[in-house]
Amino acid sequence: MSIMPDAARSNVERADFIGMDRLLSDGEREVRDRARAFVDEKVIPMAADHWDRAEFPFELLPGLGELGIMGGTLSPEYGCAGMNNVAYGLAIAELARGSGSLSTFLHVQSGLAMTAINELGSEEQKQKWLPQMARCEKVGCFGLTEPDAGSDPGSMTTTARRHPDGGYVLDGEKRWIGNASFSDVAVIWARTDDGKISGFLVSGDGPGFRAEVIPRKGSQRAAWQTHITLENCRVPEEDRLPGATGLGSTFSILTHSRYGVGWDGLGQASDCYEVALSYAKRREQFGRPIASFQLVQQKLVEMVTEISQCQLLAIHMGRLKDDGALDPATVSMFKMNNVAKARRISAFARDVLGGNGVLLDYRVMEHMADIEGVYSYEGTNDVNTLIVGQAITGHKAFA
Ligand SMILES: Cc1cc2nc3c(=O)[nH]c(=O)nc-3n(C[C@H](O)[C@H](O)[C@H](O)COP(=O)(O)OP(=O)(O)OC[C@H]3O[C@@H](n4cnc5c(N)ncnc54)[C@H](O)[C@@H]3O)c2cc1C
Repeated sequence: MSIMPDAARSNVERADFIGMDRLLSDGEREVRDRARAFVDEKVIPMAADHWDRAEFPFELLPGLGELGIMGGTLSPEYGCAGMNNVAYGLAIAELARGSGSLSTFLHVQSGLAMTAINELGSEEQKQKWLPQMARCEKVGCFGLTEPDAGSDPGSMTTTARRHPDGGYVLDGEKRWIGNASFSDVAVIWARTDDGKISGFLVSGDGPGFRAEVIPRKGSQRAAWQTHITLENCRVPEEDRLPGATGLGSTFSILTHSRYGVGWDGLGQASDCYEVALSYAKRREQFGRPIASFQLVQQKLVEMVTEISQCQLLAIHMGRLKDDGALDPATVSMFKMNNVAKARRISAFARDVLGGNGVLLDYRVMEHMADIEGVYSYEGTNDVNTLIVGQAITGHKAFA
């Protein structure tokens, strides 16, 4: 039994029970629909196969570049679309609906690498990288995490020593860095001679930089995370990010990217619900569609109710961000809530699909596995909980 083709879904079958469309402008709907068409036509038909074979979908990059969502909120001056945060979030949710691996690529390229260059880079660095990255002609990555410094990036040990002939020499290891094995530019965080953390633009094919794909991954298998080794890696002075002046600089970038990840949870949860609803209406047991059983309805109702709350939160977050009124703790609550809800919703959906739920053909299993990665990156669920806890109590409970 197959599920309904995505393009053929009516709005009733889409995860929009509360009429979210009414909260969107024409321009926002246009971006969402453009991303949706790309996902339905190009991404969904090949996503499961790439996931199964752990192959990155390089063939989608030109189309993704043309879609105009990379660095979506950044200025047209740098070849980006200059869209508002709600439109950008809607596009992310669509991408995540089709493939958590592809949306993870976007978070690294757009949310982390491009945002770091835009916010912390010199005018020359922005002109050099942003337009090409917006078109996906160049790829970037963001190296913060280390083998022994994950939730606590302040304990990083990668160093950037001054070289007597000018510039810096980077040494250390980075772990879990998405896209790095095929990146043209790596934003690498390292400790300078004065002990402060700074950011550097490191060439992806230069000497002293090695990125090996982490094998046997069970989440986001079509996205590649890597282990980076930096050995005597020379970086010229002009490739230091001038605005990166300590750990706080990394947090400002993470806040922006974390906002995008909140929409990711919504996109994946929506797809799980839509697949489960469609399946439940068609699958018959005991001579009736399983959608007619009370217990199945209860699961579907819980799913769509949670999704409706996630939608309202997402749109409100976007409006706050557009007004410059979104603080980091609120973003943490958003990411934490939407991803944790997506995790629960994907488990409900897998259950509704019965045995078929564990097949990649029905997409739910892929989402379920992918959400595990999202649950841990951009601040684990625990870390984001502690950020919100500190904001409301005034007490820091990290250590
Ligand atoms: C798919 C994927 C993609 C990623 N992409 C990137 C990337 O592109 N760039 C990058 O720099 N990093 C990336 N990461 C790394 C990611 O940001 C880290 O995995 C994350 O910050 C958690 O760090 P850790 O894995 O070392 O876990 P740990 O920090 O070792 O945490 C392990 C457990 O302990 C808990 N814990 C830790 N500290 C506390 C505390 N104070 N109180 C309570 N509980 C605590 C955590 O919540 C977690 O449950 C990626 C990770 C994954 C899985």
